[in-house]
Amino acid sequence: MSGDLQDRVAIVTGASRGIGAAIARAMVAAGARVMLTYNQGQSEVEDVMAQCPPDQVEAVSMDVSLREDVNRAFDAACEKWGDLDIVVNNAGYLKQTLFEEIDDDEWHKTVDINLQGVFLCTQAAERIFKSQEVEGRAIINITSVGGQMGGVKAPHYAASKAGVISMTKSTAKLFAPMGVRVNAIAPGFIKTDMYEHIIANTDIDEILASIPLGRVGLPEDVANAAVFLASDKSSFITGHVLNVNGGQYLGAGS
Ligand code: NAP
Repeated sequence: MSGDLQDRVAIVTGASRGIGAAIARAMVAAGARVMLTYNQGQSEVEDVMAQCPPDQVEAVSMDVSLREDVNRAFDAACEKWGDLDIVVNNAGYLKQTLFEEIDDDEWHKTVDINLQGVFLCTQAAERIFKSQEVEGRAIINITSVGGQMGGVKAPHYAASKAGVISMTKSTAKLFAPMGVRVNAIAPGFIKTDMYEHIIANTDIDEILASIPLGRVGLPEDVANAAVFLASDKSSFITGHVLNVNGGQYLGAGS
């Protein structure tokens, strides 16, 4: 039985844990061959790969904020499978910090990973896409409900994620003539290590009260959306921000 991503080649950044690992697994299940990138989590990425058919996965280390690392990882995906169809810009970093306490290092680390990382990976993808005439290619950027609504506990993170939304819309217009669709997913609260950091500083009842569907999301909720946006089932969708947040973006109201 062939899946929605049969024989596509994908690269998923930050695939060692959490949402990225779930996206990589879901894309493999849908038939894709996936290059998983990791930064610190070599043993974690090996665990993810062990859950997948060996001929459909490979891993490469890269710091998403460094151009040389990014280009090396994208070239590795092409060299391994001779092609590239799907890019998932998922790697991200969040440290909740009061606005007045965000120093230059923290600002730059947040923006460099969350926004510059998307920029560098998108440039690397464009270079490869331009060299090949292939249909059905897609970029999926993982932003955040914080990028849409702002966030008082991590305003630098929210700003970086708002930048990802703008980058998504700009590149959707720029790449459409190449046949490349660019969309974003804006997750709300999703149970991962990042979420554990968030709930250390936030009352769980406050979180649940902000979600109309009354539950926190799972990495698989985001992964299902990513497979859809990567597949031909979304072939007329570009420049879209898909909310995967249980209705949180609707805000309070009666
Ligand atoms: P996570 O569990 O903290 O995992 C973060 C991933 O990013 C890891 O695979 C990590 O790699 C990678 N990463 C971090 N710094 C990196 C760097 N400099 N270079 C390359 N990779 C790097 O986070 P998550 O919750 O799965 O989040 C995934 C994405 O969803 C992020 O963009 C995040 O902002 C977004 N998001 C998450 C939530 C949520 O509630 N969880 C909500 C909204 C948006 P290593 O482990 O290998 O170092």
